Amino acid sequence: MKPIIHGLTHDHMDGCRSNLLLIEGLYQAASEKFPFISHSAMTDYFRKNTTTNLVSCFDILIRVMQSETALRAVASTYIQHRANQGYIYLEPKFAPQYHTLGGLSIEKVADIVFDELRKTAYQYDIKVRPTICIGREAGPEIGIEIAKVALKYDGEMILDLVCGEPGNPPEKHFPAYQLTFGTKVRRECHAGEWVEAEPRENYSQRLLANVRTALFSLRCHGIGHAIPLAQDTELVKYVVDEGVRISMCPLSNMTLKHIKSLFDLRLHTLLDANVWLTLNPDDDLFLPEMKQVIEECNQIYSFTPTQCRSLETNSLRPL
Ligand SMILES: [Zn+2]
Repeated sequence: MKPIIHGLTHDHMDGCRSNLLLIEGLYQAASEKFPFISHSAMTDYFRKNTTTNLVSCFDILIRVMQSETALRAVASTYIQHRANQGYIYLEPKFAPQYHTLGGLSIEKVADIVFDELRKTAYQYDIKVRPTICIGREAGPEIGIEIAKVALKYDGEMILDLVCGEPGNPPEKHFPAYQLTFGTKVRRECHAGEWVEAEPRENYSQRLLANVRTALFSLRCHGIGHAIPLAQDTELVKYVVDEGVRISMCPLSNMTLKHIKSLFDLRLHTLLDANVWLTLNPDDDLFLPEMKQVIEECNQIYSFTPTQCRSLETNSLRPL
């Protein structure tokens, strides 16, 4: 049985398929030469480079998302695209530090994106809670600047930590997270997705250590990925007792080779333990779309009606 999901809680706006509709126009508006001979040459490039060089794929998009006009187009097209797919609750993620090359400040980027997401969501009668992200390779001072923007929005904007986990463990941005303790800001963190390959024998332990840091030190209300969570029954009990949300992206993990099989995530164990688990695409411009996520997960797990209901209601609960 397949769940019918109407909410996404782990969905990066800059990696959304909606941008395919915009990209050539964004290059034109920025007076930049489109770096491919055709639209299909670009999609070919994405297909060939997603697993080996995802950053270069993102660079092609981000390069022309540097003005207010471009950011408004990206945000409104994202909402229209997801609304047309039937979604009624969204937590789009955006990282303002990547959009300041044209002179916009981090705060200004956040204000533009928040305004456009909310305005368009209102038109389409869907709920949206934007998630402002710290690209974790940045220094702690950038993290602090981003956390201060989240504070300004007083709970209307979730704070997240994203991108390359190896070399950038959650504790690096503790000063940013600490600023939000005791406030209305809800905190999330990508953790337990991937770490340095060696030493191989304690790979899972190192992933779990990052999940624990995100939970106990950064005091997160939600975790993105947490791939080996089901291996640690005490940690599973903790996230259930504390109502921590786990936003997984199974086909992102498979495509990027962070897991060998979808069964590694043990979704059935987590659902049966009452973990607040959601399934998501991550970046469906480069990675498989949600329809395929549901299809392939169901092939492996054969979800029961109860598990389907949990996945459906879990996806609509705001963090
Ligand atoms: Zn992500």
